[in-house]
Amino acid sequence: MKVRQEEKFKGRGIRVCRICGSSRALIRSHSLYICRRCLREVAPSLNFKKYG
Ligand SMILES: [Zn+2]
Repeated sequence: MKVRQEEKFKGRGIRVCRICGSSRALIRSHSLYICRRCLREVAPSLNFKKYG
């Protein structure tokens, strides 16, 4: 049976970037839970101003 890797990270309290899975430079504020690198990519779509 196939086991999705994504399900591993659901509801386990693991705080990692929900886009790339990295835990580095993770931004938890604003309920984003994405790393700073990914934030730059999704910021425009979230109408999020430049961070830092
Ligand atoms: Zn990321």
